[in-house]
Amino acid sequence: MKNRINLAWLKRDLRIFDNEVLHSCEQKKIPYQIIYIFEPEIIKKDNISLRHLQFIYHSILDVNNYLNKYNRQIKCLYGSANTIFKEYISHYNIQNIYSYQETGISCTYNRDKKINILLNNNNINFIEFEKDCVQRAIRNRKGWDKRWYSKMNNKVIKNSFTNNTFIDSVENNQLPQNFLKSLKIYPNNFLKPGYKNAIKLLKTFIEHRSLSYNKNISKPYHSRKSCSRISPYLSWGNISSKEVYQFFRNYRKIKGIKGFLTRLKWRSHFIQKFESEYQISFRCANKAFENMTYTNDIDLLNKWKKGKTGFPLVDANMHCLRVTGWINFRMRAMLVSVLVHHFDCDWKLGVRHLAELFLDYEPGIHYSQFQMQSGTTGINTIRMYNPIKQSYDHDMDGKFIKKWIPELKEVSAEYIHEPWKIPPLLSTLEKDSIYNSPCLDISIAGKKARNKIWSFKSNEEVKIENKRILQLHTRNSII
Ligand SMILES: Cc1cc2nc3c(=O)[nH]c(=O)nc-3n(C[C@H](O)[C@H](O)[C@H](O)COP(=O)(O)OP(=O)(O)OC[C@H]3O[C@@H](n4cnc5c(N)ncnc54)[C@H](O)[C@@H]3O)c2cc1C
Repeated sequence: MKNRINLAWLKRDLRIFDNEVLHSCEQKKIPYQIIYIFEPEIIKKDNISLRHLQFIYHSILDVNNYLNKYNRQIKCLYGSANTIFKEYISHYNIQNIYSYQETGISCTYNRDKKINILLNNNNINFIEFEKDCVQRAIRNRKGWDKRWYSKMNNKVIKNSFTNNTFIDSVENNQLPQNFLKSLKIYPNNFLKPGYKNAIKLLKTFIEHRSLSYNKNISKPYHSRKSCSRISPYLSWGNISSKEVYQFFRNYRKIKGIKGFLTRLKWRSHFIQKFESEYQISFRCANKAFENMTYTNDIDLLNKWKKGKTGFPLVDANMHCLRVTGWINFRMRAMLVSVLVHHFDCDWKLGVRHLAELFLDYEPGIHYSQFQMQSGTTGINTIRMYNPIKQSYDHDMDGKFIKKWIPELKEVSAEYIHEPWKIPPLLSTLEKDSIYNSPCLDISIAGKKARNKIWSFKSNEEVKIENKRILQLHTRNSII
């Protein structure tokens, strides 16, 4: 007879505390195994890059370090979830598989549908917990805000563990050696994964960094210290948003904390949008915008991707992102704006590039925000960020630009935003430097883009779509 077991299937919830999946397994009095599945198909399709995998792997090591004393481990597996569950089914009498609902793009959605069928056919309960107040299959946002606060105020689960005596006999689907080797490395420039590191950031944010949060939130240089930087820990679930909320709820009056908490709620709001309409990962949120045409100049696209546009702030951000995995909200918005509006490239050509670079990649926020900044939602005010103006406004002394573009290190603050204006006799730039002439005239491109998008916005089909979007995604238009 096969032994009865439960499985805890962790995904974007790589933590010990406030973990409903692990808590439920402990409550049932039968052995359980905790697994994480590296799925090659999902990795390929879902913008998952090496930096994400490294963050995931080192988060797992952090959890395992804690679980060691209970003789427990998250077991890392490699392959399709379907194959792996079949393997477990052939070895064990599985009672329940616990997991969190995943708000992902079509490949994870389809994977979950397939798993549901497999488990149903084998009489296994698939219990998926709601995450961060993001609800499945809702038709409008009635009561959503109130529910968010109520969920965030629920008790944080204090997970405890019993000693494990179960020996898992499933031996296939090990991580390939080369793959494992690449995961073991962790680049120094990225924030270090793990619960303790998340808590450290929250503490320093409360103690002093939040005091300059509002002032520096858009500044590329200073925001690195003044923003919370908690995003990758939330994205990969090293800490729950409920725990983060409760960490701060009594400090609302401290300057900066109120704004932080508002953004924490936005996080769930954007993921909820995506949960209700995951199709926005491959088509415009406002379907009418599918008829919008772009020049799609591949040379410009590549310059943008490589940080070789000749616009110092754009290039500095791209270099910084490649090396550290983080830039602030406004700089993210500016990169999208330059690509889609000024360079006239379809958002679909750039969305993957940034997803792969953001250490905190979260499909729910990423696609929604990318489309908002591209102007393809129809309902949001269109914001175009002129990279030269942003440079003067937010990197006044050029400290950020100089850090990321060594070639411009000697350029004075007067010319750092527009180095092509340096009088030839004063210039220290090489003759063929891209900073002698940027790849296009930004004011002409901006004017053209404004005319294009504003005339498109008044299109009847856009307006019809806007009504649908407002009804589904916003609380003000509940009928
Ligand atoms: C094009 C684009 C793509 C983005 N992609 C992602 C992404 O993949 N993952 C991601 O976590 N954030 C994304 N953001 C939102 C935002 O830029 C980051 O959450 C923020 O910069 C993270 O830094 P922080 O943790 O210091 O944020 P803080 O300002 O300290 O905010 C605290 C938390 O609130 C949430 N938050 C903050 N701003 C927003 C926002 N505008 N929308 C939704 N949630 C927000 C984040 O979880 C963040 O960690 C994107 C923004 C843009 C414009």
